Amino acid sequence: MKSIYCSVFGHQYVVSKKVTYHVNEYKCTKCNVQMTTNGKGELTPLTPKFKEINSVLERIHQRRKTKKLEGLLIFEH
Ligand SMILES: [Zn+2]
Repeated sequence: MKSIYCSVFGHQYVVSKKVTYHVNEYKCTKCNVQMTTNGKGELTPLTPKFKEINSVLERIHQRRKTKKLEGLLIFEH
């Protein structure tokens, strides 16, 4: 459901989800089309395949953040 606005002005993306420092998911505020950043840093449609990749990336990213936090706690002791 591409809106006329989007075909004239292009999509108006906002970040709908931060996956990692480099990968975000985007949503067009006008027509709700979903995009994501791929491995090359380019925008690509958020297909079920990319959703899967992103959820894996997100889990790894969360774990890394936790590890960093543990590292800090150990360092402070
Ligand atoms: Zn759009």
